[in-house]
Amino acid sequence: MDKTKKYKRNPWSPRVIALYKEVLETKSCPYCNCKDFYIHGKYKQTFRYRCRSCRKTFIPSTGTSIHYLHKKDTFLDYAEAVKNEGLHTVKAMSERFGVAKLTAFDWRHKILASVPPRVEGFGREVILYDLWFLFNQKGRRGVSLSRNNRRNILKNKEKYRTRFLMAYDYSKYDVKIATIGNLTTERIKDVLKEKLRETKVLMSYENENIVNFSRRVGVKFKKLEFYIYNEKSSEPVKTFRNQLSGLKKWLNLILNGVATKYLQFYGDYFVYTRRGSFDALSREIINQKFVWRKFTGLELVYRDFLNLKTAIPYVNPIKRYWKTSFKYFIPNIAIPY
Ligand SMILES: [Zn+2]
Repeated sequence: MDKTKKYKRNPWSPRVIALYKEVLETKSCPYCNCKDFYIHGKYKQTFRYRCRSCRKTFIPSTGTSIHYLHKKDTFLDYAEAVKNEGLHTVKAMSERFGVAKLTAFDWRHKILASVPPRVEGFGREVILYDLWFLFNQKGRRGVSLSRNNRRNILKNKEKYRTRFLMAYDYSKYDVKIATIGNLTTERIKDVLKEKLRETKVLMSYENENIVNFSRRVGVKFKKLEFYIYNEKSSEPVKTFRNQLSGLKKWLNLILNGVATKYLQFYGDYFVYTRRGSFDALSREIINQKFVWRKFTGLELVYRDFLNLKTAIPYVNPIKRYWKTSFKYFIPNIAIPY
């Protein structure tokens, strides 16, 4: 097909042009992260660049949440709605914006995938709790519809508990999937150790693994009464407990349960929104060039997580995949599991 004709049929709106001109930036190659690139012609109202290292070409939106989007304007409206109203069900968003359910589903997860990874560690005192959610394969063909599967999960709850560790240092929260099934000292260490470099006291209910973990990393353990609700409970404990039940309610009741595959995305979004609304179109957020890679590569990251860190077998792979996904650069910190 004649390329010029194709561009003319699908012109950018002034809003999209402004996004390219004023918000999107190109600081490194989205494929190899090299900072040495040059202008290699034009694409619509923006530039096409070429990397001197890997020789690939790209535009300012390559790898971002709007990479490969045809209905860019509708996506911008969608992201605006998420910023102002939070998340609604996929069905509601599909009807409101006149897009297929799968599109509404993908857009939601691209927006969630663009929540920036939190890098700072925790402060001196940290409260920790392991929330759990039942292993959930919502949307996975051949699994979600099977009653036997559901019954099996309910019968073996211990085995299918997805352990979500939530921590709070009186100013910031973090939540991370540790495993599915038994929470071990090793799994806690894997997700938390790096973030506790400055921490002196770890507070939690009396859990053998959390106590062992504290000992192993040389942090003092202090026992907390989570379940006794009285005037003696300190303010931070009350605040923390409210956030724990808030997260649980949001996932189970408002969003009607989410697939374990995406659980970490939701956790990151929840933590981020404790400080205010999430704007997927802001300069800081939309310029992350690893969102496409994070979104399209999730199935394999999830597979590895199940195989390496849990006793749950990986079954019924989702066959939607993007051949080019793993060609893009992603920093380690942005890999969700
Ligand atoms: Zn490159």
